[in-house]
Amino acid sequence: MPHIQGRDRHSEVQFPPTLDDYIDAENPVRFIDAFVDQLDLAALGFVRVAAAVEGRPGYHPGDLLKLYLYGYLNRIRSSRGLERETHRNVELMWLLKQLRPDHKTIADFRKVHSDALRGVCRQFTQLCKELELFGGELVAIDGSKFLAVNSRRRNFTVDKLQKILKEVDEQIEGYLSELEQQDAAVPALEQSERLQRKLERLHERKAKHEALQAQMTELGQTQLSLTDADSRRMVDGPHASICYNVQTAVDAKHKLIVAHEVTNEVSDQLWLAAMALQAQEVMDVEEIEAVADRGYYDSQNVKQCVDAGITPYVSKPPTSKNGPLGRFTKEAFTYDGELDVYRCPAGERLTFRFEATQKGRMMRNYELPSRVCRNCELKMQCTDAARGRRIRRWEDESLLEEMRDRVKANPQRMKQRREIVEHPFGTLKCGMNQGYFLCRGLTKVRGEMSLSILSYNLKRVFNILGTEAMIAGLTVKKTVKE
Ligand code: SF4
Repeated sequence: MPHIQGRDRHSEVQFPPTLDDYIDAENPVRFIDAFVDQLDLAALGFVRVAAAVEGRPGYHPGDLLKLYLYGYLNRIRSSRGLERETHRNVELMWLLKQLRPDHKTIADFRKVHSDALRGVCRQFTQLCKELELFGGELVAIDGSKFLAVNSRRRNFTVDKLQKILKEVDEQIEGYLSELEQQDAAVPALEQSERLQRKLERLHERKAKHEALQAQMTELGQTQLSLTDADSRRMVDGPHASICYNVQTAVDAKHKLIVAHEVTNEVSDQLWLAAMALQAQEVMDVEEIEAVADRGYYDSQNVKQCVDAGITPYVSKPPTSKNGPLGRFTKEAFTYDGELDVYRCPAGERLTFRFEATQKGRMMRNYELPSRVCRNCELKMQCTDAARGRRIRRWEDESLLEEMRDRVKANPQRMKQRREIVEHPFGTLKCGMNQGYFLCRGLTKVRGEMSLSILSYNLKRVFNILGTEAMIAGLTVKKTVKE
C-alpha cells in the first residue's frame, strides 16, 4: 500500500474565491477582529487613532493591536517573526486585510503602548466578568519569575562585586611579587612585558568594578543589572536568574487571571493584599476568599485583607529561632483571650506587662516573675534568658490565630491553591513559551506581560465558550451599553 500522496505541484488549483472563505466561524481571529474593533482605542491611550492630516499615512493602532494579539496567542512574539507571518499566514492576511507592517513599526508599537495594552487586558477581564466566567468566591494568589533580557554575567550584587575585587587584588599581588622576583634575577624582557600587560588588564578590571560599586552606592541599591537596569537577581527554582516577579490573582472557577502585576521586588511577601484587593475590585464582590503560599505570610497584609472583607488563607512559615534550637516555640503557649494571659507548657500564666511599637506594629509583652522560670524543670527546653521567657503578641494577633485555625480546618484549600494557580503559569511558560521577556525596563515589560496574560485568558475562554459565543457576548455588551 503506498503512502498518502500530495498533489502534483504543476496541476492547476482552484483557491476559494475570497480570503474570508479560509476563516471558519470558530476561528479565533474572528473574535480578535471583533474585540479590537469595539474598543475605544483613544480612551485606552493608543496614539494615532485619528490619522494625521499631513505626512505619510501610518498604520491604524487597531491593526497593530490585532497583529500582537494574534502573535501572542500563537507563540509569535518577536517583531521580525510577526512581520514574516504577515507575508505568509492566511489568518493574518485576513485579520490585517493583507497589511504588512515592517518589524520596526511593529516593535515600536509595543514599546510605546505599555499602559494602553494593560487597559486592553483589563477590558477583556471586564468582558469575562460580564459573561459570568468568574466565580468570585475564591482566588489563588501566586508569583513566578520571568526571565529578563539580562544575563547573570551582567548582574552584580554587593557580595559579587566584593568577591571580584578581592580576587583581582589577589591576582595583582601575585603578579607583582612575580615581577619583583624577576627584577631580582636576570630580567627576561619578554616575560616581564607579558606580566606588565596582564597587570594593566587587571587594573582596568579593578577600576571597572570599583566604578560599578560606586554607582551602586550612589543609587542606594543592592544590585546592578547592566542590560536591563530594572531587572533583579531572583531565586528561580534551583538557580538564581535575572528576572522580573509576576504576581497574579487567579479565579477558581475557570482558572482565569483576574489581576496581575509585574514587579522587580525579589520577595512575594508584601503582595497578598494588593492582589486580593485588585481581584475583589475587578470582580466587584463584597466578600471573597484568597489563598496563597507561605511566602505571602505578612501580618499587615492579612489585616488589610480582613478589613476589606477578604478571607485570607496563608500558612505560617517556620520563622522562630527557638524551633531549630529544640526549644518551645510560641505555638506551645496557649493564649486565653478572656484573662488576657498566655499559659506556658509548665502550666504557668504569663501576664501582660507592657506594650511597645516594633516595626510599625503595637506589640504586647507577656512575662512571668523571673524566679518562676528559674525554678522550672522545663527551663532548658524553654529559654536561656535570665529574666525568664517573654512572649510578644501583636495587638491584632487574633486575626492570625483565626487564619491559622482556618488553614488547619481546610487543608484542601492549600491543595486547591496549587491546582488553580499553577495552571496559568505552566501554560504561559511551557505551553505558550512566554517565560521570558523580549523588552527591557519595567514599563515596557509590564506592557508585554499584559499581552501574555490577555493571550492566556483568551485561550482559556476560547476553550470554554468558543469563538461564536464570545462574539455574541461582545454584541450583548454593546447592546447593554447602548
Ligand atoms: S521556663 Fe518559664 S515559661 Fe518556660 S515552661 Fe518553665 S515556667 Fe513556663
